[in-house]
Amino acid sequence: MIMNLNQLLYKEELTRDEIIFLLNLKDQEELNLLYSRADEVRSQYCGDEVHLRGIIDISNFCEQNCVYCGLRQENDALPRFRMTPEEVIETARVITNLGIFTIVIQSGEDAHFDTDIISYIIYQIRQKSNAAITLSLGERTFDEYRAWKIAGADRYLLKHETANPKLYETYHFKQNLSERLEHLKFLKSIGYQVGSGNLIGLPMQTVEDLADDILLCKSLDLDMAAFGPFIPSPQTPYQNKNIGEAELTLKVTAVARIVLKQVHIPATTALDTIDALGREKGLTAGANVVMPDLTPFPYREQYKIYPGKRGSTDDPLVSTERLKKRIEALGRKISYKRGDSLKIDVQT
Ligand code: SF4
Repeated sequence: MIMNLNQLLYKEELTRDEIIFLLNLKDQEELNLLYSRADEVRSQYCGDEVHLRGIIDISNFCEQNCVYCGLRQENDALPRFRMTPEEVIETARVITNLGIFTIVIQSGEDAHFDTDIISYIIYQIRQKSNAAITLSLGERTFDEYRAWKIAGADRYLLKHETANPKLYETYHFKQNLSERLEHLKFLKSIGYQVGSGNLIGLPMQTVEDLADDILLCKSLDLDMAAFGPFIPSPQTPYQNKNIGEAELTLKVTAVARIVLKQVHIPATTALDTIDALGREKGLTAGANVVMPDLTPFPYREQYKIYPGKRGSTDDPLVSTERLKKRIEALGRKISYKRGDSLKIDVQT
């Protein structure tokens, strides 16, 4: 069996059935082989550096009602906040002073942050730094994506969440998967480096769905893909559902690395929240990116997509330093470059 598994892990292309087979592995020795092969592919295609992306959560208002998310509009129990543009620009300055040259501007779908405000923030950050600017603002209009690209944004993150159209409509009341895919394709077509990804362990999701998620990421020709566990959030319809499994998240990360090769893959904060060694395990199972949350107080505690987010009550500078030490303890180097897509030649 181990011999067959080895042959499978070294195949150039994996079929859907082979991906499902790998996601169903249970034996620890076989899992170690899977993680070890993913780590090898990561080293071969991405190198040994770990890229840091500094997140600023600029608003926890959201006009959507995704059933799994604590920021959903109908969650009246959540205190809401919006950072001012000046606070966002100042936080971006703090991030680049730390030697982190990707700034992720993230929020729920919040129309308050309109074309002009986001363009202003991008422009002001761009005047002071050549850091990569990543937007993660949900589904917005095609005109907004275009305006923000012209203002200087480099990347856009928009998770597809699940490749199963029926599940997608179950989880998102007003949205559908085909529209989400149109947005991802449009973003790519106008020159953004594009990231997407899923949630692992959502109710009704199967291993077959997870295999389709990985294959969808491949067909979208993504530059980054994130695979994080579902963590139930209070005041949501899924508050009493089971938490996603760390082991399944690691398996998806590892198989995705083998299939997607040079795509950037983070060891997510959600994985680190459900497993004390989540970052380390993710980084040794194929991941090459970590995304420290540098949102200042008091806002960082209020961006509650899920409860108990690791580091959310810590000083952002202290928790980032701790994270750097954890990465270095693995024998991995921290990149002090922008860490652009490995599919294009824009490194500076
Ligand atoms: S997942 Fe995103 S779009 Fe959905 S409710 Fe949460 S913040 Fe809003």
